[in-house]
Amino acid sequence: MIKFNNYNFDGRKALIRVDFNVPIKDGKITDDTRIRAALPTIKKVLDDGGSAILMSHWGRPLKDIEKKPDLTLADFSLSRIVSHLSSLLGVDVQFADDCISDDAASKAASLQPGQVLLLENLRYYKQEEKGDKEFAGKLSKLGDVYVNDAFGTAHRAHASTAVIADFFPADKKMFGLLMEGELSAAEEVLHNSKKPFTAIIGGAKVSDKILIIENLLEKATDIIIGGGMAYTFFKAQGCHIGNSLCEDDRLDTALELMKKADEKGVCIHLPADSIIADKFAADATTSSALNAEIPANWMGLDIGQMAIDHFKKIICESKTILWNGPMGVFEMEKFQHGTKAIAEAVAEATQNGAYSLVGGGDSVAAVNKFGFADKVSYVSTGGGALLEYFEGKELPGIAAIKK
Ligand code: AMP
Repeated sequence: MIKFNNYNFDGRKALIRVDFNVPIKDGKITDDTRIRAALPTIKKVLDDGGSAILMSHWGRPLKDIEKKPDLTLADFSLSRIVSHLSSLLGVDVQFADDCISDDAASKAASLQPGQVLLLENLRYYKQEEKGDKEFAGKLSKLGDVYVNDAFGTAHRAHASTAVIADFFPADKKMFGLLMEGELSAAEEVLHNSKKPFTAIIGGAKVSDKILIIENLLEKATDIIIGGGMAYTFFKAQGCHIGNSLCEDDRLDTALELMKKADEKGVCIHLPADSIIADKFAADATTSSALNAEIPANWMGLDIGQMAIDHFKKIICESKTILWNGPMGVFEMEKFQHGTKAIAEAVAEATQNGAYSLVGGGDSVAAVNKFGFADKVSYVSTGGGALLEYFEGKELPGIAAIKK
């Protein structure tokens, strides 16, 4: 497999699958992290003397328009990204208002070294998500080298993320720098972890995290469980959890996971106490309670001080840390303390030499919010893709380049 940095793009047209699915509100990009993450790859192509043809999806145009007929394709257009991308790159980015039209083909064909073309949203065509071969074939004609730098969609077998790779020989397809970085961070944790290896799993639902916990039972020495999902584990053991979040159909699953962990010698750490609230609201009345005895009509919305002290100790003794999911409802000030304390502990462990990877949705939002993003080893840009990787699944976008 070709390493991106070993390839000379001089005179080449690189067709790069990026993930520019950035949040846009009232026409303004509110978080450009994903665009910035793709810049090193694009810049290397241009610096070598190549040109870049960028393709991405944005939202779910066809599905959303079906549900809300007042929306139009224009509401999903990537043209809204052109001026910001141009200023970040210092290059006037050209735009093709369709990804496979004759106009797109002629704009791609006439690109000069140093120039960049952005194609319109791939998901204007249903063929993209269907992984349609003919559609992938048309896209493939636009460039002479294929670069996949969209880790965020690597778990999808879509036309532009996986199927397209079959149209390029092995020496003309590769991962971009972001994808390489994401993969090496994930591999470091899953395959080269130094022990003790602690996985911190939080968030709302056990059902979303069963597969990842099961797979981590084969790898981790310790698994910390926090957030809303912890209460299902307490209820399963006969505890009173009041009105806390609980998946009653997962009580057996929780017990099975604990039994499996015991058999494998993996320590599952549950939070001993919680910050409890009389309602799910920012202005709720709060108190603290042991998780074994949360009063009726109260709900646990954050881990308590005993849990924080316990978890901090485990984290600070770890050499490898994976963190997915917040410890509480960190979006509300009264319930952010636990998640913030865990972010601090992960940062401290990292400073003391541990390798830490934060990824998968809300834990990334949390480290960004609390200012710890540059104090951990790696913050992943891939939500669902990272979760599936840690569930032990083969990601189609990765497999397509490797085969
Ligand atoms: P997930 O997407 O599964 O990682 O879940 C993240 C969401 O879980 C966040 O929006 C949190 O507000 C929410 N959450 C975390 N802890 C709790 C809790 N104790 N009760 C209810 N929701 C929670």
